[in-house]
Amino acid sequence: TQRVTVIGAGLAGSEAAWQIASRGIPVTLYEMRPVVKTPAHHTDKFAELVCSNSLRANTLTNAVGVLKEEMRMLNSLVIGSADRNAVPAGGALAVDRDGFSGEITETLHQHPLIEVVNEEIQHIPEEGIVVIATGPLTSPALSAQIRELMGEDYFYFYDAAAPIVEKDSIDMSKVYLASRYDKGEAAYLNCPMTEEEFDAFYDALVNAEVAQLKEFEKEIYFEGCMPIEVMMKRGKQTALFGPMKPVGLVNPHTGKLPYAVVQLRQDNAAGTLYNLVGFQTHLKWGEQKRIISMIPGLENAEIVRYGVMHRNTFVNSPKLLQQTYQVKTRPNLYLAGQMTGVEGYVESAASGLIAGINAARAARGQEGIVFPQESTIGSMAYYITHADPDNFQPMNANFGLLPKLETRIRNKKEKNEALANRALDHIRKFIYDNQLNTL
Ligand code: FAD
Repeated sequence: TQRVTVIGAGLAGSEAAWQIASRGIPVTLYEMRPVVKTPAHHTDKFAELVCSNSLRANTLTNAVGVLKEEMRMLNSLVIGSADRNAVPAGGALAVDRDGFSGEITETLHQHPLIEVVNEEIQHIPEEGIVVIATGPLTSPALSAQIRELMGEDYFYFYDAAAPIVEKDSIDMSKVYLASRYDKGEAAYLNCPMTEEEFDAFYDALVNAEVAQLKEFEKEIYFEGCMPIEVMMKRGKQTALFGPMKPVGLVNPHTGKLPYAVVQLRQDNAAGTLYNLVGFQTHLKWGEQKRIISMIPGLENAEIVRYGVMHRNTFVNSPKLLQQTYQVKTRPNLYLAGQMTGVEGYVESAASGLIAGINAARAARGQEGIVFPQESTIGSMAYYITHADPDNFQPMNANFGLLPKLETRIRNKKEKNEALANRALDHIRKFIYDNQLNTL
């Protein structure tokens, strides 16, 4: 069997190394800390949580809770360590961060098939099976290499994302489908505003509380990407001639032009998610929720991903990756973690789990396996490889990524329960069919 190289022992790389070694395949795991630091990590531990100590919801009524349960079934090191180091946090899974990272570090160091090397990798190894999982703060030298391999147009240093809402939660009686001047197929959902509604919305937006930018994130503004709240502060006219321009968008309900609009653009192929066009924002999440609920039609919108402006290293996965997390042009190279466009600790670990299982299979000369789209872990792999490549932004686990149920359930709680049960059924069968737990 071949040895697999894993670069980066963060959330994704640690899980990948564990999955590979658990299958009897030797791993060399490179981690640059503590020799080289990142602007956000503070320790020399693997899978360090750079910010919150919460891995978010732990219940099956939430997609990230279902994702955790799927990962438990798949013998995840990250979720197992989180469970063993949990601290009280209501319905969430929060951890003692030192205990959590300490256990992962120990486990991988002590594994007889894992060799740990504390070194910064500056060049992508040209041969062998390689998993790159160097995260949102990938070191500059390696970033440059990945950028060269992937192509400049498909590599990003930050994300400036607009909020995304679930289509099912939009009040369709208030919004209408239209493209400016009816050009082409009507592609946008338009939320019309009266002058009074716009004024109230404007005041709320320019006075809302913004999240603090980290020192290393300040450069984002210089890259020419302006948050909506900053643009709005230039004056009402800027908004009315900018993203909220109503021109060419007659409201079929009234036969008139609204005073202003917020446009929503379809975000995934299934049409279950829509993003707010031009609304990349750095507002605090609570403020985003309050302000979005002021938009006609979005009063009860389910926000599946908040707008963010982050320093982030990620690639255009819809162009570059397969659902197995293999690079299309170089199938013995896998990417995992935040750099593939999944967003969050658990999501990063989940992508490492899939990449690890597939890298281990490759080492044995077996074909890669595609996780079922009905599972949350598989739905993320599907999303990042099938989203619109022209507007690709990182994504959290959410129920909107799962294929629709065969029968429509109106009650949201019951619908989510049905989606969760279907996800777990699919993953159970998938594990059995592929003998994933009989290593
Ligand atoms: P990481 O966990 O960062 O792991 C990458 C590893 O690779 C690191 O250990 C790094 O030292 C190493 N490395 C980098 N370059 C090299 C190299 N050239 N050679 C060798 N090793 C290298 N998500 C949440 O769910 N909740 C949060 O609260 C949260 N807060 C965040 C705050 C910040 C400031 C950032 C940047 C991200 C945050 N995220 C959060 C998003 C994301 O979940 C985390 O960044 C997560 O750690 C990503 O996992 P990863 O495995 O992709 O990368």
